[in-house]
Amino acid sequence: MNLLIMGPAGSGKGTMSEKIKQKYQLAHISTGDMLREAVKKQTSLGLEALNYMNAGKLVPDTLINSMVDERIKQDDTKVGFLMDGFPRTLVQAEAFDEILHTNNKNIDCVINLVVDFEVLADRITGRRLCKNCGSIYHIKNKPSKVEGVCDMCGNNLVQRSDDTVEQLEIRLQEHKKNTEPVLEYYRKQGLVVDIQAGKPVDEIFKDIERAIKQI
Ligand code: AMP
Repeated sequence: MNLLIMGPAGSGKGTMSEKIKQKYQLAHISTGDMLREAVKKQTSLGLEALNYMNAGKLVPDTLINSMVDERIKQDDTKVGFLMDGFPRTLVQAEAFDEILHTNNKNIDCVINLVVDFEVLADRITGRRLCKNCGSIYHIKNKPSKVEGVCDMCGNNLVQRSDDTVEQLEIRLQEHKKNTEPVLEYYRKQGLVVDIQAGKPVDEIFKDIERAIKQI
């Protein structure tokens, strides 16, 4: 089973991806995580992507497409994948069709998380993450036991540099301009399931499980 998960920044893609990946044993491919990793390792891709990411802008399609092309060929995607944060433009969606075709794969369902701006702003500004093990927290909704310290590995929690209201507004504009056409592209193919994602995590996940059962 191959899934895409879509939704603006703060819609809960990371949290839901984690739950979907665990339940259905899929390879989780997050282009945002891959780019952050490339930045951390200071690869040429990371250095090129950094300025776009800090400005809340999309990294150029050619860079992203070749990164995904390479990733999809890895063995762990044979059992199925969950693509998170890609495609974000029509050019990427068309390139992805090519990539899938070449690798004899297809998309079974596009899960679209729908959330109001106020909820997004609250989630984004309160989000904290552990750079060591990747655990995600929220200062109100999911606080760590000790403030600023990861429950899982004891490392310090940090705020992503693009997790501000100003950056959120830019990312939402980007989302509207570039990513909504992608949703339409998949909607026309009958692949999109809209999930109301402004509610508690367990309720959202139940709706996702129901949608997956109907594939
Ligand atoms: P995310 O963690 O998915 O919100 O991604 C963080 C940042 O990485 C975005 O704001 C973009 O700058 C960049 N990025 C991630 N995925 C893509 C993509 N598919 N196309 C272009 N830029 C991306």
